[in-house]
Amino acid sequence: MALDPETFDALIDMVRRFVTERLRPLEGDVEAADAIPDDVVREMREMGLFGLSIAEEYGGLGLTMAEECRVAIELGRTTPAFRSTFGTNVGIGSQGLVMAGSDAQKAEWLPRIASGEIVTSFALTEPDVGSDSGAVKTRAVKDGDTYRLSGTKRYITNADKADLFTVMARTGDEPGGRGVSAFLVPRDLPGVSVGEPEKKMGQKGAKVADLNLDDVPVPAANRLGEEGQGFKIAMQVLDRGRLHISAVCVGVAERLIADCVAYASERKQFGKPIAEHQLIQAMIADSKTEALAARALVLETAGRKDAGDNVVMESAAAKYFASEMVGRVADRAVQIFGGAGYISDYGIERLYRDVRLFRIYEGTSQIQQLIIARETLKRGG
Ligand SMILES: Cc1cc2nc3c(=O)[nH]c(=O)nc-3n(C[C@H](O)[C@H](O)[C@H](O)COP(=O)(O)OP(=O)(O)OC[C@H]3O[C@@H](n4cnc5c(N)ncnc54)[C@H](O)[C@@H]3O)c2cc1C
Repeated sequence: MALDPETFDALIDMVRRFVTERLRPLEGDVEAADAIPDDVVREMREMGLFGLSIAEEYGGLGLTMAEECRVAIELGRTTPAFRSTFGTNVGIGSQGLVMAGSDAQKAEWLPRIASGEIVTSFALTEPDVGSDSGAVKTRAVKDGDTYRLSGTKRYITNADKADLFTVMARTGDEPGGRGVSAFLVPRDLPGVSVGEPEKKMGQKGAKVADLNLDDVPVPAANRLGEEGQGFKIAMQVLDRGRLHISAVCVGVAERLIADCVAYASERKQFGKPIAEHQLIQAMIADSKTEALAARALVLETAGRKDAGDNVVMESAAAKYFASEMVGRVADRAVQIFGGAGYISDYGIERLYRDVRLFRIYEGTSQIQQLIIARETLKRGG
């Protein structure tokens, strides 16, 4: 159920002030240290950010999808690694449990996920399994009351600090996604290890690493849903996650546009602010138009999801359009800033690198195109 408007406005106001006054001044430090300061993480916990999407009965804020997207837009106005700190708890790391978990599983884990006491990760991708995610090779072999899991999961966000992983592993010989099941795998089980964080292009401060599973005994009680439902659960989780990511893209675009307006109003060439040159105005107009269109698409789709509509196609369209849009907006921002756009001190080149990821993870743009086409063909238009 939606929050009452006053409470929600107060939440938005709190997040906006946190982003502007607390997080933005730290952007350069986070980039340099490739880490989020502990006191910031503590403040995020106190604000309830780890539990945005989790029901109030488990200690979360229980936001609707539309409300969560509005918050994600605010969080998009700073370096995306801050959001990533709690992003897996809000999204891909917790939602399998929310959607398919038993009451006992939810009671055991969700309160600690919502409070940020523990960090969760979502482990689908493997060294040989990316876009074709139904081809999971990690095995889960039933052995009495346990499953023994073996395999490697790749590029797992927050794996460095995760206490609990939602792992997709093959339990059956059925081809593709039909033989895949989902498991809750606590980090402290024997045979679980995490690799060194990867060196990345951007989003410094957010870590990805391999999750290695070496004959890990996972209690059968930790399976999410029935055997063979894991791929379906993963797709439902990603379907939801795509809207959240789209909203973050809108926020970053709005931030970049504001930065461009401020810079173009100040910087003078040919005797006047560059904002008065019509070719600069054209770039600002294109960025603004696209950001408005993405915002409308994201919020409309989130509202329809809250109403119970099937928004598989619309979520993919939002992710496709918003992630490509913010790439174009960042590219224009570098151009509007000229040489300064290429120099690290101004932060524009950092965001240019940061936003590149949005076209890749939670399904590449090509995979979104395939989903949009498949659903459109299925619906007949
Ligand atoms: C920073 C980061 C964080 C991540 N976090 C997580 C996480 O937390 N959990 C997780 O499970 N995974 C995570 N991933 C993995 C991410 O979801 C995958 O990288 C992504 O889905 C693409 O898979 P791939 O890298 O194997 O590329 P590939 O699937 O090998 O794709 C390579 C290229 O081929 C294209 N392609 C593939 N198939 C087709 C097709 N049928 N038609 C047309 N083009 C196609 C792709 O679009 C892409 O351009 C993360 C990745 C990164 C980089």
